[in-house]
Amino acid sequence: MKGVRIDKQKWTEGIEALKSGYRLYGPVKADGFHNFDLLEKGILPDFNFQNTRLSPKAIIYPQTEVMFHYTLDENKEDHHILKEVAGNTMPMAILGIRPCDAAAFLLVKRNFDTPEYRDIYWVRAYEGTTLVGLACRQPCQTCFCTTAGCGPFGEEGLDVLLVEETDAFLAKAITAKGESFLKTAGWGEAADSGPIDALKTEAESRIRTAVQTDRLAEKTIPELFDAPFWDEVAFSCINCGTCTYVCPTCWCFDIQDEVSGKSGLRMRNWDSCMYPLFTFHGSGHNPRNTKTKRVRQRFMHKLKYYLDKYSSGIQCVGCGRCIRQCPVNIDIRRVCELMNSYETCR
Ligand code: SF4
Ligand code: SF4
Repeated sequence: MKGVRIDKQKWTEGIEALKSGYRLYGPVKADGFHNFDLLEKGILPDFNFQNTRLSPKAIIYPQTEVMFHYTLDENKEDHHILKEVAGNTMPMAILGIRPCDAAAFLLVKRNFDTPEYRDIYWVRAYEGTTLVGLACRQPCQTCFCTTAGCGPFGEEGLDVLLVEETDAFLAKAITAKGESFLKTAGWGEAADSGPIDALKTEAESRIRTAVQTDRLAEKTIPELFDAPFWDEVAFSCINCGTCTYVCPTCWCFDIQDEVSGKSGLRMRNWDSCMYPLFTFHGSGHNPRNTKTKRVRQRFMHKLKYYLDKYSSGIQCVGCGRCIRQCPVNIDIRRVCELMNSYETCR
């Protein structure tokens, strides 16, 4: 693949040039944490982070998204007709996304972009976005991407991979979208992308933690579902939903109408399987009426149902956010180990 060297002296100029062609998002620090935000004129991405507190999934899949608007005013000709909200069609680019977060979009794509069903909101945003990854030279202690299908220099799902050095970035264009991004920035000084491989090996050796998933496929759903460890796993959970909101691969949502006077909006909002109302039926019945059932659902979905359905690994990229941010230290690596090593008498 073509390599490009970006001299840091040409960085600011390139970033400003990109803003005329893209809605450009990048990591910025606020209130002590890095998160992705729109880079307005004069704002540069801040790459002094290991990983952002939240994944950038909200850029493609907003936490709250208005899908339709309508009027209930019967004096208007178009009353009670759903009308799609015109979105911003300017291309987007996410600069500095970690490889695990880019790989996460591919896992979500299997659910939102299928031959039977296409979520047009998600697909439009995803296809209109260029993902410019920043390789991780100093992984967090809780990163386990190398055993979750990607890695600190992983290229899957990215259009460009950037590797930061002291005076420059080495860039590798992975797709045509990526080449066009580098061209818009005016970064074109050809370079050998060979050194990236050595840095990749070094970064991978810094990943100190892992999950073992090799036996998950051979277990049956009923045996894992009825395993005796779920009460203990769920004991300390407070069903706060943090793990699902920070997860780059969680996709659940709820659709609600909000009406004010005679104007209405139909909105899609993130939801979480950790909340009791998530499965509360209109009849009053709730199939997941205890926290043990909800915690089991989260792990069974990520580590068993997804794996069985798509035969392509677990629904986790190893970013470690749920481990770092769970207020009661529930650790997906431990739950995966319990599931992977569980033996029952047959
Ligand atoms: S973050 Fe921890 S406490 Fe909160 S819902 Fe998830 S597992 Fe439970
Ligand atoms: S999990 Fe891997 S790709 Fe993600 S931030 Fe950590 S080292 Fe980087």
